[in-house]
Amino acid sequence: MKVTRAQVIENGLRCRCPNCGRLTIFKAGRYFAVNESCTSCGLRIEKGDGAFLGPFAINYGVTAFGVVIPVILLHALGRLGAAATLTLCFAGSLVVPVLLYRVSWGWWLMLYYFFLPENLPGNLEGRAGDDE
Ligand SMILES: [Zn+2]
Repeated sequence: MKVTRAQVIENGLRCRCPNCGRLTIFKAGRYFAVNESCTSCGLRIEKGDGAFLGPFAINYGVTAFGVVIPVILLHALGRLGAAATLTLCFAGSLVVPVLLYRVSWGWWLMLYYFFLPENLPGNLEGRAGDDE
């Protein structure tokens, strides 16, 4: 079955496998454990050393630009005291990455396969002459 870019986005935003759309990116019952490959369709999720860097970069970017920098700007504008600024930055830097861990994996796989949808197993079959 051919997978479209719209399906890749939909699955990524829902933290599902970009190929089959099932909830198989993470091991059942374990928040931080990523499956090496999808248990349903076999798509390789953990692509080896450094595979975590994509989700890490997304998580870092959201934490920095969504929490830390706005809080520092509020402090610079005189709207937030030093203690509140430090507390929010410290707490935000600890809590946000944990909360976004699964989402960042979904977004990373979505970005990867949005630009390389031909690498999805669902799109490898019938590749020749398939011009949707
Ligand atoms: Zn799958």
